[in-house]
Amino acid sequence: MTTVPEVFGSMVFSDAVMQEKLPKDTYKALKKTIQDGKSLQIGIATVVANAMKDWAVEKGATHFTHWFQPMTGITAEKHDSFIAPTGDGRAIMEFSGKELVKGEPDASSFPSGGLRATFEARGYTAWDPSSYAFIKDDTLCIPTVFCSYSGEVLDKKTPLLRSMEELNRQAMRILKLFGSSATRVTTTVGPEQEYFLIDKEMYKQRRDLVFTGRTLFGAKPPKGQEMEDHYFGTIKPRIAAFMKDLDQELWKLGILAKTEHNEVAPAQHELAPIFSTTNIAADHNQLTMELMKKVADRHGFACLLHEKPFAGVNGSGKHNNWSISTNTGVNLLEPGSSPHENAQFLLFLCAVIKAVDDYQDLLRLSVATAGNDHRLGANEAPPAIISMFLGDELTEILESIEHDDTYDSKEKSNMEIGVHILPKFPKDTTDRNRTSPFAFTGNKFEFRMLGSALSISGPNITLNTIVAESLSQYADELEAADDFQSALNKLIKRTIKKHKRIIFNGNNYSDEWVAEAKSRGLYNLKSTPEALPYFKSEKNIKLFTKHNIFSEAEIVSRCEIMLENYCKELHIEALTMLDIVRKDILPSVMNYVHKLSSTAAAKKSVLADVNCDVEKALISKLSELVSCLYHKTDKLEQTLLAAKDYESDAQKCSAYYHDSVFASMQEVRAIVDELETSTAKEFWPFPTYGDLLFSIL
Ligand code: ADP
Ligand code: MG
Repeated sequence: MTTVPEVFGSMVFSDAVMQEKLPKDTYKALKKTIQDGKSLQIGIATVVANAMKDWAVEKGATHFTHWFQPMTGITAEKHDSFIAPTGDGRAIMEFSGKELVKGEPDASSFPSGGLRATFEARGYTAWDPSSYAFIKDDTLCIPTVFCSYSGEVLDKKTPLLRSMEELNRQAMRILKLFGSSATRVTTTVGPEQEYFLIDKEMYKQRRDLVFTGRTLFGAKPPKGQEMEDHYFGTIKPRIAAFMKDLDQELWKLGILAKTEHNEVAPAQHELAPIFSTTNIAADHNQLTMELMKKVADRHGFACLLHEKPFAGVNGSGKHNNWSISTNTGVNLLEPGSSPHENAQFLLFLCAVIKAVDDYQDLLRLSVATAGNDHRLGANEAPPAIISMFLGDELTEILESIEHDDTYDSKEKSNMEIGVHILPKFPKDTTDRNRTSPFAFTGNKFEFRMLGSALSISGPNITLNTIVAESLSQYADELEAADDFQSALNKLIKRTIKKHKRIIFNGNNYSDEWVAEAKSRGLYNLKSTPEALPYFKSEKNIKLFTKHNIFSEAEIVSRCEIMLENYCKELHIEALTMLDIVRKDILPSVMNYVHKLSSTAAAKKSVLADVNCDVEKALISKLSELVSCLYHKTDKLEQTLLAAKDYESDAQKCSAYYHDSVFASMQEVRAIVDELETSTAKEFWPFPTYGDLLFSIL
């Protein structure tokens, strides 16, 4: 029996392994390279590659791959074996420094949004030594960045690393002014991952799930989530076995899976890891999603990561818990225990408030996908409006600072920045409001709008960059000030006054909030086609280019890719719908109608005046619906064909898919769901919501 500490990280070429396997000089040089964010010298790379290969081969690996995160939002790998011929008919295992440092996958099949013509299809991958290599499926995986030969970024890791670096640079300017001894600041993330588990055999019978990840049809089951008996309920034995196995697999890869519980909807669950540095958290979340699917399959389940697999049932999200800490162990979003620390906390808090208000549009579009459109603004998820929850206590403090008022009715003390100690905010007093899209939870912010399938890179690139921008403006001002203390006071007050409209502690799900947010001038970007074009606004291009995260061309191309993805997803959904209606639903219901007719005819042959009212009523109702469905399906097909007219303009095309194709799909669905409720179970062509959601015992 192996213990958890023995299993944990056993498949990772971690710092401890490097220390053990590398010559001292090489280890030191590698560490320095990582710390300085420089690229690796070939001499060092050769030694590291060799040690890595020996370690991997010892663990049974036969192949290696550069593991990267192209714009598809999932990870990509191209496996090469270590094998090298010796010339005498034998083979040895080889892995060179060059192979470790740089790879050249054919990039032509990855989305580039027009950045790269196919004739110059080559891109290259380069090792990100700040993320450890690991073994997965007998393959040594080397986390890498992915660029085109002309230097354009083609992945999600590079801009994330850049945004972390930029936040570090700007935060360090501020910390210097406070006399901090820290030398480096990093952002940390703990992403909570929601998912559904359903029976694999039933999954296979639903082509909508197989092709699109969500059900395109399905009438409401008699029982939904109204009993609230699933949330934190007892975990069923089959699910518990899956979770245990998943934990083992994640621990081997050094992923700190910590808590698992049932979620609100039936068959829905959540996994939360212990937080880590943002780029590691992004890598680990990708691996977590991949392993969830793989382990589910082993246990006879299908794992659904789609944001809204079932209409009318809670969707799945991903809570992005985010904070900033120093290499001296200080969480900059934690109120401190001295007046000095509190002033610093307030400044960082203000930087986030200002950032979220100034760049609501960017935060919103960083989570915009076709799948997430079903969730945001629907009942259980945050609305599409960005606002921040700070809790009454902290809000009151900010108000008293803004107005130079006394704070705290009990103590009647005057809240002066840098003079008073802030009260501690225990987590439970700050985290009660679960409806906020962006909540302060005591020592971190929880961005709750992410969909479950999303790579966390995009939202974190955005968060890091917009907060870096606030900090850079603050640093410019404070560095130039004669009197730091009074400049700081002014700055904090000004921020609160100017940006307090973004703070909302009430119920974000209410209609009153939608109206109130409008009167405050906040954005309400309801759909992906509405939100994405803001990426290219002058203000946002200025932000990303100023901080060297994206060039203008890269922004335009990314925007294009995301809009195209939206269209493609809806296109596939519509085609799947047409296919299922024509090949499964219409024939099945017509079969049932035939059965009803022959039943009535048979009855009549025995008893001429027998009562056939039910058969007649059903035949009539179903025939009407079938005819209606037939025409609506044709209409959907025509609508879909007309999308071709917009092919040259991704923005218009996405709006068309949203306004016309999706609307037409809704009409088809409504009829099918009605047919389902009137058709005998044995004639219905695939498992129903009730089957899918309540079959696991
Ligand atoms: P919830 O009540 O929303 O389930 P938890 O308190 O269990 O939240 O924590 C949620 C996540 O927040 C966990 O993944 C945890 O590791 C993460 N977290 C805690 N502190 C930090 C931090 N300083 N930075 C980033 N994430 C953090
Ligand atoms: Mg949470």
